[in-house]
Amino acid sequence: RVLNFGSLNVDYVYQVDHMAREGETQRAAGREAFPGGKGLNQSVAAARAGVQVCHAGLIGDDGQMLLDVCRENGIDTRFIRAIDGPGGHTIIQIDKNAQNSILLYPGSNGALTEDFVDEVLSHFGRGDTLLLQNEVNLLPYIIDRAHEKGLTIVLNPSPINETLASCDLSKVSVFFINEIEGGAISGAHDPEKILDHMLKTYPDARTVLTLGGAGSCFCDAHSRIHQAAFPVSAVDTTAAGDTFTGYCVYGMLKGLAWAETLELAARAAALSVTRKGAVPSIPYLEEVLNFT
Ligand code: ADP
Repeated sequence: RVLNFGSLNVDYVYQVDHMAREGETQRAAGREAFPGGKGLNQSVAAARAGVQVCHAGLIGDDGQMLLDVCRENGIDTRFIRAIDGPGGHTIIQIDKNAQNSILLYPGSNGALTEDFVDEVLSHFGRGDTLLLQNEVNLLPYIIDRAHEKGLTIVLNPSPINETLASCDLSKVSVFFINEIEGGAISGAHDPEKILDHMLKTYPDARTVLTLGGAGSCFCDAHSRIHQAAFPVSAVDTTAAGDTFTGYCVYGMLKGLAWAETLELAARAAALSVTRKGAVPSIPYLEEVLNFT
């Protein structure tokens, strides 16, 4: 089983003529609400690949649509709790040139308590996998408790911030990072150097480094693999990394070789960039297997 202790966001997208400027009041021409958050996206991707995912997290007053999306995708929602007050959300302005500006409010994603973490983790143990991103509070605590209980910890340390310095990352079995995160962690730009750094710092861990249209690479103590991206005409790369991570979790749980896992994830992510949006762009396993 996979437990994803992760963010659940509503993305509010406003169509504007231009970004609101300091002191200006601007009327938006339209508003749409979409499910989002790296946590939710990765749970949906893993679930569409065929993984039994249990998502744990907190939603706020406006979170019913997030619960609905999880249920529609067969995700176990028994540890998604609603609290009073605003949920995690973004306010996204999209101007007439399709440029965006994003305001993120963590809301309920920042309201996890140690009691809730303990309660959720009491239902999991050795043999289970914990998937984490860096969009909820208490990450250091979650990692320590999960490690004590023998869960395999998979971390996408995104976004990079000071919280990560308080985490004992030697307890992580698999890292998923992109070039920006890899650069921030290692101080290097060259992918090989980023992998060298990860291996030196976390010799027992595996690292998957994604490189956008340049594909991805993997390293552990024994091998390095490079997987090219599948050539597609990209429409919207939102959730490409989350789709990639979700499908890699599927490959790991199935016991596929890493080369095979990366190829499957690259197919899934390529499909996702040909479609608009986050959740709607995440493909199902059958489509991924038929994609050439
Ligand atoms: P993130 O969204 O986390 O920054 P990346 O941009 O590195 O992640 O993308 C993750 C994966 O998605 C890549 O390794 C690649 O397989 C796939 N991908 C991203 N952009 C493209 C693209 N333009 N064409 C094909 N595949 C892509």
